[in-house]
Amino acid sequence: MSNWVVLKFGGSSVAEAEHWQTIADQVSGHLQKGVKPILVLSALKNVSNLLEALLHQALAGVYPNAISHLKELHLGFATQLGLSIQPDLQPIFEILDEQCQAVFNEKTISPSRHASIVACGELLSTTIGAHYLSKAGVDTNWVDARGILSSHNNLDLWHHFTSAKCDFSSDPKISQHLARLSGAIVTQGFIASDEDGATVLLGREGSDTSASYIGAKLQAQEIQIWTDVTGVFSSNPREIDGTIPLAELSYSQANLMARLGAKVLHPRAVEPAQQSNIPIRVKSTGNPHHPGTCISSSSNNSDGFGLVFEPRLTSIKFPRRINLEAIEKCLQSEGYDKVIEFDDTQLNQPESFWLYSNSDKPELTPQQLEIKLHDNSIDSLEISNNLALISLIGSQSIVEKIDDSGILSDISPIKLFRHNINGVIYIVVDSEKCLTTAQLLHDDVVSNL
Ligand code: ADP
Ligand code: ASP
Ligand code: MG
Repeated sequence: MSNWVVLKFGGSSVAEAEHWQTIADQVSGHLQKGVKPILVLSALKNVSNLLEALLHQALAGVYPNAISHLKELHLGFATQLGLSIQPDLQPIFEILDEQCQAVFNEKTISPSRHASIVACGELLSTTIGAHYLSKAGVDTNWVDARGILSSHNNLDLWHHFTSAKCDFSSDPKISQHLARLSGAIVTQGFIASDEDGATVLLGREGSDTSASYIGAKLQAQEIQIWTDVTGVFSSNPREIDGTIPLAELSYSQANLMARLGAKVLHPRAVEPAQQSNIPIRVKSTGNPHHPGTCISSSSNNSDGFGLVFEPRLTSIKFPRRINLEAIEKCLQSEGYDKVIEFDDTQLNQPESFWLYSNSDKPELTPQQLEIKLHDNSIDSLEISNNLALISLIGSQSIVEKIDDSGILSDISPIKLFRHNINGVIYIVVDSEKCLTTAQLLHDDVVSNL
């Protein structure tokens, strides 16, 4: 086993000046023990949203004020940390300026410009973070993540540039190269480079996956995800009352929770760690001594449960066999990502697909698909844009208790699907009923434990 540990700090962790002492203490603690930390940092909280908004301001030619605002925000934060690093940040603002000018000239936001502009959030935060640590006396090297993570080519340009997947096999060359740099390493979450060296993004909230990719490449001892809650809970503690902290989770439980909507981990973050059998520990930057949640091959949440939800889904129901592959390709190229599919053998109903609709996507209609696919049989599809999927992940006995309690028929879901092997019940309701139904179910499971 190597002596690397990956420490990923999310947007709210890096955006609070008082958290930086904690971050420096953690890094120093590892270095003193001979463990080599690699920090994977997100952009400051909300900056990726501001950069996405900047894309549209660039298109409209009204971007200079927005760039000035981003400048003030980052320079102001650096000042709060006692840093005076305007010349170090300036080249990144110049990239923003050039890229915005190009968007305006090209009269379109290409996926490649999108990636180059939004990537600047992580370039800025890591520049500030590396300077802070150096000033705090921690030997620190800033490394560009685009030299560590390379993405697979994807023919669909939107996914290629904004939802890239990277190679994560063990990489002794990178490991040796980074090991030659002294002290701690600071690098960016969320960004990578493609085979041509162009900047790509791993998808919103993708820094967790960067940490997991890098951990697997370096065969790290542990991947720590530092965030704004004290670990993974039975459900989102900010939206559901009475949630229970989960000290341990197996990889497959954590993977299911992340894939089905538990925002605390990016959907793709578990697999790379699992394949290399590297524990993931979810910890709180505001409460660093709390043990958090450990996700590993020897951990299990056998008596517990997870209740996760995706409040905005678009479903498509296929009344008969049509060219599903063409529809799927078309939706993928439009940026829709499938969360789950139920087929007729599972549902005893006509074939159906369930699709995750990105929040910035307009409502989908059969007519749109018909035009895109030049297929007029498509208007027979049933599309619903306002559905939520609530998933209860638990042991067989918990699932049976819930089945017996009668709560599922009280909820009268639009659809109900059980996956007995995984111990998951999927419940589809209208979006507007998502939170109340999730709370009812959570209360019921807790009282049945
Ligand atoms: P970061 O910026 O650190 O990546 P995120 O906002 O992406 O943080 O993830 C942390 C948030 O995940 C928490 O504030 C919480 O609201 C949300 N969350 C959703 N489901 C869960 C869960 N089951 N357990 C803990 N947190 C959850
Ligand atoms: N900064 C990116 C986002 O907000 C990636 C991340 O924070 O995980 O989506
Ligand atoms: Mg996150």
